[in-house]
Amino acid sequence: MSAPVPPIQKILESLHSELLENRDGEVATYIPELGKADPEWFGICLVTADGQVYQVGECDQSFTIQSISKPFVYGIALEDRGKEAVLEKIWMEPSGEAFNAISLRPGTGKPENPMINAGAITATSLVNGGDTDSMIRRIVRVLGIHAGRPLSVDESVYRSESETGHRNRAIGYMLRNFEILEEDPKACLEAYFMQCSISVTCRDLGMMAATLANGGVNPCTGERAVSRDYVENILSVMGSCGMYDAAGEWVYNVGMPAKSGVSGGILAVLPGQLGIGVFSPRLDPCGNSVRGIETCREITRKFGLHIFQVP
Ligand code: GLU
Repeated sequence: MSAPVPPIQKILESLHSELLENRDGEVATYIPELGKADPEWFGICLVTADGQVYQVGECDQSFTIQSISKPFVYGIALEDRGKEAVLEKIWMEPSGEAFNAISLRPGTGKPENPMINAGAITATSLVNGGDTDSMIRRIVRVLGIHAGRPLSVDESVYRSESETGHRNRAIGYMLRNFEILEEDPKACLEAYFMQCSISVTCRDLGMMAATLANGGVNPCTGERAVSRDYVENILSVMGSCGMYDAAGEWVYNVGMPAKSGVSGGILAVLPGQLGIGVFSPRLDPCGNSVRGIETCREITRKFGLHIFQVP
């Protein structure tokens, strides 16, 4: 007789088959490499803070992490420079503008938060290393500790990002103009393009989310990826600014700190309890995975996980 299927697994399986029917949204095509994704890919991975893994669908399909790298690199900046020095350079107010807006606080030129590109590029510049190679090596290594396995950069996506990244370069030079970046932006822009091009799977996202849920220690390897103190800062900016222009709607309906990326991933964290990774490439007009949003909304509803729910 086979072992009984745990209720969490059953719920995820029925959610997956239900939401497979949803074909709304469009795959991102701002670089040709992302346009090659199969729009039907759909994976859900839930990992508890003590390392139980539940997964369904395409959880081993590689895709590039894109903006989901931002909270983790913010964590590295906090580790490398300390909170005060980071807050000197990057604020924590939701901007209400598009992720790639040239959105700097009036007067100071300080990026509004680390989840928009201006703030994310600044966070990358604060990673120890000085040159592109050392910075990206540190970023890839630390993201790999969160994921519990070594990660690497997808070179063809990186080349595509770098060849077309004129807007991000413009942001970099604006930041240099306001002395938020203290050196020529070239090195940190290339590191930023590379960090967006790190290859991950949906299972990796679930594990990375669970590492944050577990206070910065990967629940399966036991290795610390980020100091416990900084997890609170990371989750705060994810909570207020993680879902592009839909951050308010997300908190209202789903109620978990989260970050999405244009390749179709969403990573959500319930502190102390669990992490969720979802991957499906069709995006809504805000740039969030349609099935990803629906999945998280349903998981919250079915398990009663909204962080503001009064017990
Ligand atoms: N590499 C993308 C950019 O900075 C990230 C897009 C995203 O996932 O939001 O333009």
